[in-house]
Amino acid sequence: MKNGASEYLIRATAHGGLVRAFAVDATGVVAELQERQGTEPAVTAALGRLATGALLFGALLKEPEHQVTIRVKGGGPAGILLAAANGGGDVRGLVSNPVTDVAQVRNGKLNVSGVVGREGRLSVTRDLGMRRPYVGVVELISGEVGEDLAHYLVSSEQTPSAVGIGVFVRAGSVEAAGGYMVQLMPGVSNAAASAIESSIMALPHPTTMLREGDTPEAVLGRIFPDGFQLLDRRPVRFHCPCSMERVHRALLLLGTSALAEILAQDRDQGFTEVTCEFCGEQYTLSSADVERLRAEAAGRSNGGPARE
Ligand code: ZN
Repeated sequence: MKNGASEYLIRATAHGGLVRAFAVDATGVVAELQERQGTEPAVTAALGRLATGALLFGALLKEPEHQVTIRVKGGGPAGILLAAANGGGDVRGLVSNPVTDVAQVRNGKLNVSGVVGREGRLSVTRDLGMRRPYVGVVELISGEVGEDLAHYLVSSEQTPSAVGIGVFVRAGSVEAAGGYMVQLMPGVSNAAASAIESSIMALPHPTTMLREGDTPEAVLGRIFPDGFQLLDRRPVRFHCPCSMERVHRALLLLGTSALAEILAQDRDQGFTEVTCEFCGEQYTLSSADVERLRAEAAGRSNGGPARE
């Protein structure tokens, strides 16, 4: 596995600021996701593509604490796939079924649409620290993730976009993962748009470029042979922000009756174990802690001062 610290995402503009472009090497991030979620190769590729997409979408956020969550439910055996990134380059992800009974390789490629499914929806939730998050939803078009993300940007956000992402797994280990995203702003000339389209058509697969040693800058260099303006470079990493405090908040949201059930179930052992489904971290709460949360939840449902 490559050293995660060397992995980064770049943001750039081209054609006088009328084109936005992003590229990322997320190899170590996806390798860690595979390890934490225990995914088989085709699911690693599906979840890795989604996480790479979340990092690219995260690059559009203005603040590091803003968050974007992409959820795919395609009706395939992997179930629901979810990846969440923030504006600071942190990403995490999870999948309902990390191992399926589907053939991992089809036509010489990892069978991503076979595990994801082709019929369902992709939703994007942006939490910008406002009262309500912004949510957009599209129907899946291929279940290959990258195409579905580009379709989302075009149809839900009316931004002509190209998204190229990939994950290369060999002998069970992630050898390359990453990609690019290019967006045309209103006012870009037809000549510029068609030049970009032809360079993207001629590009090797994202993981071929990364395996040949291309940096994110080199990938954008191929798309914009006349040059681009680098805006910034930021490290990317797998990071789960879970904590005991967040576990308490999540339990409170379950409400009094669910907490009473947990208490009854764990009465004999005297403690309750909660595992973070994103990273696998285990949190142990004493029954007294759970009882305190149950009482607090009861206070809230009675219109107590903690009600929001
Ligand atoms: Zn966690």
